[in-house]
Amino acid sequence: MQGFFDYTEIDKAFYKKNLGPRLPAEVYDVHVHMNLPEHAEMIPEERFLKDWALQCGHILTVDDAYSIAAEIFPGINYRIAGFPWPILEADIEGNNKYLADMRKAGKCDPFMTVRPQWEPEKVEKELIESGFAGFKPYPDMVTGEKGADVSIFTFFPREQWEILNRSQKAVMLHLPRKGRFADDDNVRELDEARQKYPEVTIIIAHFGRSFCPYYLKEGLRKLNGAEGFFFDTAAVLNPEVYEVAFNEIPADKILFGSDMPIPLMHGRRTWTDREYMNHCREEYVWNKDSHEPPGIEKNYTLFLYEEIKGILDGIEKAGLSEEQKKGIFRDNSMRALKLT
Ligand SMILES: [Zn+2]
Repeated sequence: MQGFFDYTEIDKAFYKKNLGPRLPAEVYDVHVHMNLPEHAEMIPEERFLKDWALQCGHILTVDDAYSIAAEIFPGINYRIAGFPWPILEADIEGNNKYLADMRKAGKCDPFMTVRPQWEPEKVEKELIESGFAGFKPYPDMVTGEKGADVSIFTFFPREQWEILNRSQKAVMLHLPRKGRFADDDNVRELDEARQKYPEVTIIIAHFGRSFCPYYLKEGLRKLNGAEGFFFDTAAVLNPEVYEVAFNEIPADKILFGSDMPIPLMHGRRTWTDREYMNHCREEYVWNKDSHEPPGIEKNYTLFLYEEIKGILDGIEKAGLSEEQKKGIFRDNSMRALKLT
């Protein structure tokens, strides 16, 4: 269980005022990392020290994910896709097996994390036999770094794309490289992927790591639009990103994702044109010298609540319909993962 998870009266009041009355009755969360402590215990200390997100949360069992969801989304029918923590040193095989077992028990619809060097035939067999929704590859699997400067086809090789194309399943794609969604090399490779592997449902995680609107706007412009892709909202808190998203991406291509367990911390984000800063009440190594004054910190709510408020405000501002809202929070994921 998240050691820090603490649900406060301020959180309850925030939910009641801003989220509860506006959320659809059913929510499908396409982006949650779930595992058991033993799957992450070999991740070395240095990794935690240089990765704020890992410090904020790296263990969440399936049962804990559902009990937290029941507490923070009272009365909502919450369901989770789920995938491992795709960290180079983690026990990926064990984590995949755990999630496959949870799927068998009817609890989630997981993706399988793949290492690029795994034998294609074995990977394909496991994908099909375990009924995974698709693959969750990750730049970290070759570099030990999440936003690394590597080709998409290095950490997610073409043989694995072909497996998904044959089985018509999905990939949850975390983009590499500093330029994020707007990076010329990412744009070229995404364009290649949508042409060469048309049967793959390509879900671009975090709007292509577009935590600031610049990246989303530029990426969409360079790709001539969103055709051929789905996008998830995970860990995107910036209202301006949602403004671009709801204006420029068809609403039926946007999927709600939380990125739990990370956004269960209390805080807020601020932005410059291309950078974001996290402010957080809980104590970690990364924020030990960067707290806001206690008077501000005491009013923080969950990062996840800030994200959802951003989505709901954006939906309203763009004038999307109730149907489209339900799509974003559930139905689009059902379609993308072929669950209906
Ligand atoms: Zn994630």
